[in-house]
Amino acid sequence: MSTIAAISTPNAVGGIAVIRISGPDALTVAERVFTPANGKPVSAMAGYTCAYGTVRDQAGNPLDDVVLTVFRAPHSYTGEDTAELSCHGGLFLSRQVLRLCFAAGAEPAGPGEFTKRAFLAGKLSLTQAESVMDLISARGDAELRCARSLREGAVFRRIHACTDRLVELLSDLAAWADYPEEDIPSVEPENLCASLTGLHAELSAVAATYDYGRILREGINTVIVGRPNVGKSTLMNRLSGFERSIVTDVAGTTRDVVEESVRLGDLTLRLSDTAGLRDTADRVEQIGVEIAYRRLEDAELVLAVFDSTSPLQPQDQELINRIGNRRAVAVCNKSDVGALLDMQELDRHFDYVIPLSAKTGEGMDKLSAALHALFLADAPDPQAGVLSNERQKHCVMAALEQLSAAISAVRAGESLDCVTVLLEDGANVLLELTGERATEAVVEQVFARFCVGK
Ligand code: GDP
Ligand code: MG
Repeated sequence: MSTIAAISTPNAVGGIAVIRISGPDALTVAERVFTPANGKPVSAMAGYTCAYGTVRDQAGNPLDDVVLTVFRAPHSYTGEDTAELSCHGGLFLSRQVLRLCFAAGAEPAGPGEFTKRAFLAGKLSLTQAESVMDLISARGDAELRCARSLREGAVFRRIHACTDRLVELLSDLAAWADYPEEDIPSVEPENLCASLTGLHAELSAVAATYDYGRILREGINTVIVGRPNVGKSTLMNRLSGFERSIVTDVAGTTRDVVEESVRLGDLTLRLSDTAGLRDTADRVEQIGVEIAYRRLEDAELVLAVFDSTSPLQPQDQELINRIGNRRAVAVCNKSDVGALLDMQELDRHFDYVIPLSAKTGEGMDKLSAALHALFLADAPDPQAGVLSNERQKHCVMAALEQLSAAISAVRAGESLDCVTVLLEDGANVLLELTGERATEAVVEQVFARFCVGK
């Protein structure tokens, strides 16, 4: 195993920069670049201790004052001997220190290589390693809770429990097939089916957690739609906190789709403000209207805006029809001036009907509460394990497919050998998920997402 080094702090100027060195020669490399103030050689330092001193360039001239921290295998992040040099956080300076480490025998670390080594040393499961990136990229409480639970092994334990049950079933099947004449309780198709169905239900529940995590990470594709002049752009601006869309009292002002991402508590809305829905002879505006309807088709959330100062119009009705069963909130805007809208009619079509004034901000808290209820009310418990990426989801879906096929095979009275093969495939993808049996290619792919220095 080589000894690797990288700057673990951001590629930016800061108070300090940390150069991390890991591998069998980490302490030798550190000793070559670092002169301790107290004269005690690095090789004599115990794990979890620090020393103050100087990094010198190859001509022996002092480059910077640094603090060296020593970790001794296996009690380090990677499980290897590790040295961390904390120098002043200049871009040029930290790179110079890194170069000296290379000159002293270290090699450049690849993306995520420290964490990959931790995984290969058995310090982390693959899902726990993946949590490191989630921790770094978390933007709010809910994301952080999911990442922390992943780090603590919640997904690993949940998947591992399923794998254990599968392996148990497989050993029952093997015992029955190998020693049919012995006194082993036979594998009853009915019991087998019940066990497999239970396992299928549990894995389906795991798969369902993926959407929650995705919504937290990627945000909700949200479209703001409604007739001209109902206040869509004003609502967009109110949510964005600045003048994102042009607002005038001229109908047909917004023609192109205007996009903006906004944070609302734990939710991220990827908002699209669209052209007002009406029949128009203006060719450009007409295209805008067509695009608005198309955006509505793709949206995960529709903010349907109505005007409180007038009764429902045929265009409003058309919008309600187009929304169909999509997740939607009816926003009755301009509540500061009027109450002519038939709220009962809206109540029939929408779970949430929110009177508000985009102009004054009154009622915005209710809109926020409605969205949290819509998307987070039945949120899964992060501690029970929430899938955090496509790879994990893909493995769970593949396992579910094998389980479904196995259940059908048992029901169709097919040979237990055939069932065994399907269940083995199912167990294998779950072992791939946790990394207990992942190919090198899979491991490479996971760590390719990481940044250098992590
Ligand atoms: P859009 O065509 O749906 O995008 O509507 P705009 O956001 O451009 O607003 C149209 C007109 O309605 C503008 O004159 C706004 O100032 C006005 N308006 C928007 N929201 C409100 C509101 O909550 N209260 C009042 N009184 N006027 C509003
Ligand atoms: Mg507009």
